[in-house]
Amino acid sequence: MAQELDTTLAFIDLENTGGHLERDRIIEVGIILVAPAGEPEVWSTLINPEIRLSPAISTLTGIDPADLAHAPTFAQVAEPLREKLAGRLLIAHDARTDLAFLRQEWRRLGQVFTADVLCTLRLSRSLFPDEKRHGLDAIIERLQLHSAGRHRALTDARTVAIFLARLYSEQPARLLEACRQQWQRPALPGSLDAQTLDALPDRPGVYLCYDEADSLLYVGKSIRLRERVWDHFYAATSQQREMRLVQQIRRLEWIETPTELSALLLEARLIKERQPILNRRLRRRENLFTIAWEGIERGSPRIVPLRDCDGGELYGSFANAYRARQSLRRLARRHGLCLKALGLEKPTSGPCFAHQLKQCRGACCGAESRLLHDLRLSAALRHLRIEHWPWDGPMVLVEEGGGQRLYHLLWQWIHCGYRADPADLATLWERREGEFDMDIYRICFNALSRNRGTWMPLAQLLSPSGPQTTATPGR
Ligand SMILES: [Zn+2]
Repeated sequence: MAQELDTTLAFIDLENTGGHLERDRIIEVGIILVAPAGEPEVWSTLINPEIRLSPAISTLTGIDPADLAHAPTFAQVAEPLREKLAGRLLIAHDARTDLAFLRQEWRRLGQVFTADVLCTLRLSRSLFPDEKRHGLDAIIERLQLHSAGRHRALTDARTVAIFLARLYSEQPARLLEACRQQWQRPALPGSLDAQTLDALPDRPGVYLCYDEADSLLYVGKSIRLRERVWDHFYAATSQQREMRLVQQIRRLEWIETPTELSALLLEARLIKERQPILNRRLRRRENLFTIAWEGIERGSPRIVPLRDCDGGELYGSFANAYRARQSLRRLARRHGLCLKALGLEKPTSGPCFAHQLKQCRGACCGAESRLLHDLRLSAALRHLRIEHWPWDGPMVLVEEGGGQRLYHLLWQWIHCGYRADPADLATLWERREGEFDMDIYRICFNALSRNRGTWMPLAQLLSPSGPQTTATPGR
């Protein structure tokens, strides 16, 4: 195949500390070079990632953290690696992920890396459209390939080479056609050109697609903007939904963000505020309802509009009161809770309807104490709980990455906006708007529990002495 394509093929595989492009690092590279003539050349090295290797990855790959400690860093292998790969066609399974990790490592060194790639995952999808699984394990199984093991860079690179050789020997014409399709760039609408799309940063952010009338069609987010937008056009050839979007796009806007966290916040906010025509989820809802409950032995839960909440614990957000009641009913059935104690049935004397069906354990007729019932209710509701805002005042989530910094203003889980300059936050706070939104809550709560971003009180950021320490939420 190297002769056919008249180039040296570089089968490559990487092992990484994880799948997160910004945080994770490469720990192993394996390459098999196949030139149009001559013997294949094999090259591999462990790489010291300069961050911790999780036990899970260590078990998966069998790579011992101690071995990495003595391995060269990426900076030390960057030059020989570049020599191996320069001018080669990189062939890998899910090639764009490997390419992205390589580019990211070189970016850390202030260098640019590009290469032509061929993705055997995409080849498998296009040559075996009836198969559901296209991972390397599935391919080894399907084609009964001889693999000397998995999850080490060189053995995986070898598996990819064997896979491609098999395809070439069995169906060369179809294979070359599939390769050509992969390299062919999709057609773009007249007002957009490849240059515009290539100008998109290879970084996290949100993108906005507009139609001919300049109405907002779609808002999306990605950790790699350029790739994600190109994906829409690639996918449009096979997917109806993508086709609808792509046929209407006339103009693109994008906002680069420091990391994925800002992209998530911006996406949720933009979709809610601007209601793009083609975003199916996250529609703006004015009157969300929630379940409010004072707590154990303090009465029944109440179903109230989220905006009127005045204390007590809150559980879930629902499109309307009916949905909230349905959710409580489901919990009652699943956990044998009492319809009367939940306020879902009128407080008459005698057992509730569910107790007559033996579905309620009898808080309504003394068969179960209210304390026990409420303890069980509390456990049943736990997964819906909206945590209290853990601070006294508004907070600023400072997000940093790729030489960029953004300041998100948050108050009671409400995203009040964001600025690139902290000096603008005072005006933003004065003019704050926005309402509670479950998506924003989840994004923020996840960020907090995973320790992403830096949270500091607005007051501290605006104080003349400036920011000094970062705050941790009091629990
Ligand atoms: Zn009952």
